[in-house]
Amino acid sequence: MKIQLIDTGYFYADGGAMFGPIPKTAWQHRYPSDDNNRCVLAMRSALLSNNDGRILVIDTGAGNKHLKQLSYYGFFNLTDLGGELSKRGVSREQVTDVILTHLHFDHCGYTTVKDEKNGTLSLAFPNATHWISREQWENCHRPNHLEKDAYFTENIYAAAKANKIRLIDHDTALSEDIHLRLYGGHTPGQIVPYIKTPGRTVVFAGDVIPLAASVSPEWISAYDTFPVTSYYEKIRMLEDAANEEQALIYCHDAYISCSTIKKIKGFYKTEQIISSY
Ligand SMILES: [Zn+2]
Repeated sequence: MKIQLIDTGYFYADGGAMFGPIPKTAWQHRYPSDDNNRCVLAMRSALLSNNDGRILVIDTGAGNKHLKQLSYYGFFNLTDLGGELSKRGVSREQVTDVILTHLHFDHCGYTTVKDEKNGTLSLAFPNATHWISREQWENCHRPNHLEKDAYFTENIYAAAKANKIRLIDHDTALSEDIHLRLYGGHTPGQIVPYIKTPGRTVVFAGDVIPLAASVSPEWISAYDTFPVTSYYEKIRMLEDAANEEQALIYCHDAYISCSTIKKIKGFYKTEQIISSY
């Protein structure tokens, strides 16, 4: 199993929002911000390829369909995910599976692409099965008030129309080395892929733990819809990560993309920083 991380671009998020109840006097030592209190966040995707010919993409970034509506986020250094794949020798048509951790705009925007001339939407990965949790799918179509601005159904509608979506209800094994687990908190039914590699299991933590700085269970973003659930879900993830020497991929961290976790005297800490993916 080969894992390649791809940064699809960056945006700004308010530091206070990213760290919820934690005061700046504490979080400023773990994550940089500018004079306006803005933190740079990455939008990280992963490309997985296996000996059995399966080629998988985890999350697709913001794409480019809604950038004007979302200009508040100040997107910059956006890359074309299809172009990034072709630099790595993979065409969009070759992708067999797209795993969408959840359907907030910054995780699934490049799932559909818009024809500039006639405005029609087509699937970015036309031959791929798109894996989404049923809970997240239903949440996207009947969003609560706090989450509704994070969803644009045109990001995924073409996949449904083409009958290319597989909804999962429970933790699901895609193959011997890729298991999808479901986590709540940030949003209902977030998929977290667990990827077995020869050395260790690598976890695409998604927005359960978006930054290395969010490893402490109480450091919960104000964007999390169910923060008490987030707290317990983070501990569930961190306990396994520490006990089983797993590595966590931080999809939004502009500075640290991956690390292992250790537990010292009841506190979770990032351990070995991994920059090789
Ligand atoms: Zn999210």
